[in-house]
Amino acid sequence: MSDKHIAFTFDDGPNTTVTPLVAEILEKYGGRGTFFVVGNNINDASAKVMKYVHLNGHEIDSHSLTHSDMTKFTAKQIADEIEMTDIRIRSVIGEETRFFRPPYIAYDQLMFDTIDKPFICGRRVDDWDKSVTVEQRINGLLEKAEDGGIILLHDQDDNYATVEALQFVLPRLAEQGYEFVTLSRLFRLKGVPPLTDRPIIYSNVFQTENTYQ
Ligand SMILES: [Zn+2]
Repeated sequence: MSDKHIAFTFDDGPNTTVTPLVAEILEKYGGRGTFFVVGNNINDASAKVMKYVHLNGHEIDSHSLTHSDMTKFTAKQIADEIEMTDIRIRSVIGEETRFFRPPYIAYDQLMFDTIDKPFICGRRVDDWDKSVTVEQRINGLLEKAEDGGIILLHDQDDNYATVEALQFVLPRLAEQGYEFVTLSRLFRLKGVPPLTDRPIIYSNVFQTENTYQ
């Protein structure tokens, strides 16, 4: 049994290029990941990928419909974004999403009041930025890995540098005793119910307030 658990999460999919690759690497090391998908990125081809990775035990969660800065939205607009995204995802995988990641990690009290899902951030290596090299991604991931931790990465269409970084990092973390689990499983394994009654955005399941991101 592994004694350390970590959730690798991926934003801005689904797509037919990088989404299946990162799912496959995690599976190679006995792991599963969590995909925070953008509702508007779901089309016929990417829906097939999303359905397939979900069937293989990966988790699908919500990263909004339009990937907007939602702090500029009214309560009605916020609620519509969340609902429309859930409808699209449910039509493909037959399930609701459980967690929410705000686009740009931009959030405010109105969003907490309106969205009835736990908010997730994660330790970041800024892998949306093409100037961040594979080596920098590797070093950042090895440094930020921790038990109960959430890692925020991007399975954007052309983000092969993150695929390369994972190929190096996952075997090393596996050697250190890490198991790569979905977000739902991470909270469950650690016996921590995610809180929705206070404004908290998680980067580690043991967090009880916004002490770090
Ligand atoms: Zn995003």
